[in-house]
Formats: sequence, C-alpha cells, structure tokens
Amino acid sequence: MVVGDISTGTDVLVIGAGPGGYVAAIRAAQRGLDTTLVEKDAYGGVCLNRGCIPSKAYITAADLAYEAGHAEEMGIHADPVVDMAGMLDWKNGVVDRLTGGVEKLCKANGVNLVEGTATFADENRVRVAHGGDGQGSETIEFEHCIVATGSKTIEIPNFSYADDPVIGSKEALELDSIPDRLVVVGAGYIGMELSTVFAKLGTEVTVVEMLDDALPGYEDDVARVVKRKAKDLGVEFHFGEGAKEWRESGDGGIQVVTEDEDGEESAYPADRVLVAVGRRPITDTLDLENAGLSTNDGGFLETDDRARTEKEHIFAVGDVAGEPMLAHKASTEGIVAAEVIAGEPAALDHQAIPAAVFTDPEIGTVGMTEAEAEEAGFDPVVGEMPFNASGRALTTNHTEGFVRIVADDDAGFVLGAQIVGPEASELVAEVALAIEMGATLEDVASTIHTHPTLAEAVMEAAENAQGQAIHTLNR
Ligand code: FAD
Repeated sequence: MVVGDISTGTDVLVIGAGPGGYVAAIRAAQRGLDTTLVEKDAYGGVCLNRGCIPSKAYITAADLAYEAGHAEEMGIHADPVVDMAGMLDWKNGVVDRLTGGVEKLCKANGVNLVEGTATFADENRVRVAHGGDGQGSETIEFEHCIVATGSKTIEIPNFSYADDPVIGSKEALELDSIPDRLVVVGAGYIGMELSTVFAKLGTEVTVVEMLDDALPGYEDDVARVVKRKAKDLGVEFHFGEGAKEWRESGDGGIQVVTEDEDGEESAYPADRVLVAVGRRPITDTLDLENAGLSTNDGGFLETDDRARTEKEHIFAVGDVAGEPMLAHKASTEGIVAAEVIAGEPAALDHQAIPAAVFTDPEIGTVGMTEAEAEEAGFDPVVGEMPFNASGRALTTNHTEGFVRIVADDDAGFVLGAQIVGPEASELVAEVALAIEMGATLEDVASTIHTHPTLAEAVMEAAENAQGQAIHTLNR
C-alpha cells in the first residue's frame, strides 16, 4: 500500500481523455452513470494536442502564406513573411481553447476527472499514480471500464527521438523556426501532410519511403494527383528506400542514409529528419494481464461490434481497438461503448467511416472503391466529375482532381466515393450520409445543390454514373 493511497468506486471508469475517451465519458454521464475519466497528460488526447488540430492549424496557415505569395495569376502580388514563432503561438491558442473546452464539457456533464496514470490492479480495479514524487496514488473500483489510451509514434532503429535532429510529428508541430532542409521518412498521410506544410513554408523537403508509392491504401490515380502537386511544390520523392541511419555532416547539418532492396545506399542532406512511419497502440503499459486481457499481434485490444473486449465489462475504443486510427472512429466507438453500458442497443457499423488526408489537394474517401465493390459481389457502376469542369473550382483557382462515386448497378445504392481535390474532406460527408441513409444515385443526382459550389461535383458524378451528366461527357 502506497502512502496516501485512497480508494473510490465508480460505475464507468474511462482511461484516456482523447476523442474516444472523453466522448465516451460524456455520453456515459449523460445517461446518468457515475463516470470517472483518468488522463495522464492533456485533455483531448493526441487529436487535440499534437495530431488532427495542430496539424490542420499549420496546414491552414501554410496554405494562406503560400497562396498569398502565389496569386499573381489572380492579380495579387505579395511576398508574405512567415513568423514561425507567431504561427506556433496561434496554433497553441487554438489547442488551448479546445482542450479547455473538453475539460469544461466533462465537468458540466458531471464526469469526475482524475489526473494520473492508470494501470489495472485486477479486473475490477485500477491503480492511478498521480504524477511527480510524493503525489501518491489511488485505487478506483469500477463496474465497467473503457480503455481509450490511444497510440504513439513508432520509432525506427537508429532514429531515436532523444537525438536532437530526429523529430516525430509531435515535435514537428512545435518547431519555432522553419528548417531549411527536412528529410521526411514515410509517405503515409502524416508524412505527406507535414511535407506539404513545410514545402509551402519554403523548406527543401525530401521524402524517403520504403514502399514504391506514396499514400498506401489509396487508389493510384488518387495518390498521383497529390504526389504531382507535392512535386510542383518542390518535394523530392525517393521510393523503395528504407531509412538506415543518420550522421552529422560536418557543416552543422546531417545526412540521412537510406538503403534500397539491393543494399545500395544513398544519403540526403538535411537539418532535421522527421520520422512518420506509423503509430502503435498504447497497451503495453496498462498491466492488462492483471485484468485478464490480452492483445493481438499488432498490440491492439480486439473488440466485438459493441466495443467489448474479451471481458464482458471492459470495453476498448479508438486507436487501441484497431484500424483505422482516426479521431471520428474513436468518438463513434466511445459513444457505442457508453450506450451499451447504459443498456441501449447500440452497435458499431463500420461500412461508412470516411477518411481524409489534408494534403494539397485533399483526399476524402468513404465506403468502397470499384474494385472493393466487385470483390464484395456487387455489379458496380462508377461516375466521375473532374474539378476542372466545375465552375466553383475554377473560381477558387484549384482545379486538380475529381469526384468518383461508386454505386450498385442493380439497385442504384451508393456504395462509396473517392474524392481528390479542393475541400475533399468536406465533400465526402455528403456521400457518407448517402451511404448511411441507403440513398441511391438517383437520390444524390436529384437533390438540388447550390450553385456555384464544389458540392455540385458530387451531384454531377452521380448523374455521370447514370449516363445523365450535363457538364461532363457521359461514360
Ligand atoms: P488519443 O487521442 O491518443 O488519446 C489517448 C489518451 O490516453 C491520451 O491523452 C493519453 O495521454 C491517455 N493515456 C494513455 N495511457 C494512459 C494511462 N495509462 N492512464 C491515463 N491516461 C492515459 N485523425 C483524424 O481523424 N483526422 C486527422 O486529421 C488526423 N490527423 C492526425 C495528425 C497527426 C500528426 C497525428 C499524430 C494523428 C492524427 N490523427 C487524425 C489520428 C488521431 O489523432 C487519433 O486517431 C485519435 O487521437 C485517437 O483517439 P483516441 O481517443 O483513441 O486516443
């Protein structure tokens, strides 16, 4: 027994206050359950503090600076000066406002907030160690537990984040000066988003990727649009090369050494190297075995469609519960877990989880691709609308990319969409709603869309799939 130990009990104990955990806690409290939320670091988790929100703040600021300096075609001549420390302050202000909001919302809904690190003592109790020496600890007994401890950046051999020139996405979003040269290891969505930010701020960016293309998981023609624009921004890609080590180069900078599959080495000069090779779930520090829980090979807690783990009364939501590691998926699972605990018939339905990549241009996808629809036994029909035929896209001076909509040819039900282009992250929501509502191509095509908007491209793609498009040639 630790000195100063106290013991309390709760109906629902939530571990981790990211978008999975805080949403679950609020919903459980809204349902009248006595709810306790334990957080070891900052309210809002990775998403609000060092993920979605800070990266999107930087993307917006870098866009603004870049666009203002590249608008001669529109008759605008400007040479913006970027004050990185000012940008950092602004981004931190956005983060503080949101994290403060999460804390207030939890309190206003009656969630008990506990600061500290939770580990399982047994299957009905956690031990919470309060940070710092002599801060003591407490034991909390629970009826139900929701594990929402998220994920952390993967470290690769010879690239320790303890070494100054090596940074992860967290550190990249805290830089107070713009690096002259940056090597980015990994061309997944985080690597590509941050490469775009720094390229727009004037950094010489080199991307090295072990696979033979960027943005794995996205269709070739979608990824190609983003890669083409990144190259226009000056980003240099080296595919089929794994990062091997870094060394000091003598001129105050470093060299990042890569190796291809034939063992051939290359070296790229940089001031810093940003490692963005993926994330892994935080399950190894929870003493899961004390609660009788185990993880799969990837370190994830496996769950059923009610977000339940192998223990009936312990749930797992968000990044710890598997791919896709996305904030909105975490929140949806959090709500389901809380409602199931409250005795409601909630269940997870993963067919329409949208995903967005906030590159330039953006990507927004939901549901099935044409190939996935075929594989699932549908007879898919596809319609497309290129943004260079959209009046609104022309007026924004962003005409790269297209909307592609996939539907079932027999019943006409919308099955998915792949959008690459301006505001794709927003546009994909319309198709997600269509899938969720069981809408058909006809429903989307006959919905009157405001003119001139980018959303008209979704309507036009649905018309195109029916052979009824007005502003594009029908397939
Ligand atoms: P987290 O947000 O990771 O929160 C987990 C919380 O648990 C943390 O606050 C942590 O401190 C706490 N915790 C961990 N262990 C303990 C413990 N033992 N005791 C107490 N507390 C503990 N997703 C999107 O959907 N859109 C995006 O645009 C997007 N951009 C991203 C950009 C970057 C750079 C990164 C890194 C991620 C991005 N993501 C994005 C992913 C998104 O941030 C995660 O999917 C999301 O945060 C997962 O939520 P979560 O609640 O599962 O976990």
